[in-house]
Amino acid sequence: MSYPDTRLFIDGQWQDAASGKTLPVVNPATGQQIGRVAHAGIADLDRALAAAQKGFEVWRDTPALERARTMRRAAALMRERADAIAAVLTQEQGKPLAEARIEALAAADIIEWFADEGMRVYGRIVPSRSLAVRQLVVKDPVGVVAAFTPWNFPINQVVRKLGAALAAGCAVLVKAPEETPASPAELIRAFADAGVPAGVVGLVFGNPAEISSYLIPHPIVRKVTFTGSTPVGKQLAALAGQHMKRVTMELGGHAPVIVCEDADIELAVKASAGAKFRNAGQVCISPTRFLVHESVRADFVAALTRHAEGLKVGDGLLEGTQMGPLANPRRVAAMADLLGDAVQQGASVRTGGERIGSVGNFFTPTVLDDVPQSARIFNEEPFGPVAAVRGFTQLEDAIAESNRLAFGLAGYAFTRSLKNAHVLSQRVEVGMLWINQPATPSAELPFGGIKDSGYGSEGGPEALEACLNTRAISITNL
Ligand code: NAD
Repeated sequence: MSYPDTRLFIDGQWQDAASGKTLPVVNPATGQQIGRVAHAGIADLDRALAAAQKGFEVWRDTPALERARTMRRAAALMRERADAIAAVLTQEQGKPLAEARIEALAAADIIEWFADEGMRVYGRIVPSRSLAVRQLVVKDPVGVVAAFTPWNFPINQVVRKLGAALAAGCAVLVKAPEETPASPAELIRAFADAGVPAGVVGLVFGNPAEISSYLIPHPIVRKVTFTGSTPVGKQLAALAGQHMKRVTMELGGHAPVIVCEDADIELAVKASAGAKFRNAGQVCISPTRFLVHESVRADFVAALTRHAEGLKVGDGLLEGTQMGPLANPRRVAAMADLLGDAVQQGASVRTGGERIGSVGNFFTPTVLDDVPQSARIFNEEPFGPVAAVRGFTQLEDAIAESNRLAFGLAGYAFTRSLKNAHVLSQRVEVGMLWINQPATPSAELPFGGIKDSGYGSEGGPEALEACLNTRAISITNL
């Protein structure tokens, strides 16, 4: 199966880095190099920034209706090309083809939602204190946005940022992940082919720290948006703060799953196990701390274990694969470390717990029970296919455990009681809470965390608002 090399996209042109430097791209299912990606240096970034400023001035002055039409063409291209793009995504990231295809199609939905929402960026007229005065509130695009995105959803993480920013009239310079460069490049290609003016979208790869430390302070960049780990997010937010840049941070999570004694256990297992092992657990909203009422824990763990054992793990390109490899060898090492620590502290492995074979980054879907609160896996974001379970007897204790960590991204709960659902919705400190259902992070809902999981939102009208300046204008009639 073919896999393309990826070049930089600057000023409407696909091009190599000025230095000619490239980095290898490896298929996580085979460990083999499948292509190369251009590595931008400062000279490339300078050209990309100048092009973005020029592109911004054109796009800002393009009517919202026209911007929406262009974005809709990009969405249509993503749909048309979804199969081909999915094959590229699976080869570089590992997720099963069906999941990759959903990601490409979801991008089209997200683009369309933002395209429409961009036509509803309203200002207002505020009654003034004098008949001679008209007071207006207007919303303008913030300018050039620098977007930094990770490898777990190489398309989705870019399209949420791009959709909102383009709909608001901003230009966006994307630093996409070097490990999975070709699928985000296909997203950018859809926008280019749809007729987005030169410079409005740019794409670079290289050394992440070098690029972020150059772009964030740069005067052309007016907003910074990052998805990735909390420690890196804190560094980038601090740098942005020093330079007074607008910021959206979508960072790590450690999602609690509270299964109450009155839960529909079958639903709880189906919804949370589906979310747990999707993308091999490398999802910021993945369920990670399973808090299960003691009266149903044995049944829940047995069913979760059966689910995990039934999953077909393999190369995402093969028919029937339900879970692919981890995206890079760092994750395999992290799983081994976290499991070793949990077992040493008294957790029991119900299933899994091992690397599979020696080729590629395959790991068994794993269920850990009796996990002590002090185990690292109950404190650090696991980002892998491990479900860690603890029992509880009082709902307040489960809520206290949910809120114990600094993370506050996603949470799940299962209960038949309206009272429990109310208490949970009021007390669990997360940006997104799903009760009696799997995660449904649709474009129209805010997407983002609280506490150390970041701030700002990448969904709903709030995502657009984050790309807009609000200005007050007062005009006196002479
Ligand atoms: P990492 O923290 O080194 O990198 C995470 C992402 O941030 C990568 O895409 C990387 O390119 C980028 N990055 C790192 N340093 C940067 C910098 N100085 N400037 C700009 N970008 C920078 O770790 P990793 O090994 O790639 O991933 C491990 C952890 O990252 C996971 O355990 C998880 O907590 C987190 N992560 C979160 C998400 C998410 O969706 N929120 C996605 C991927 C990784």
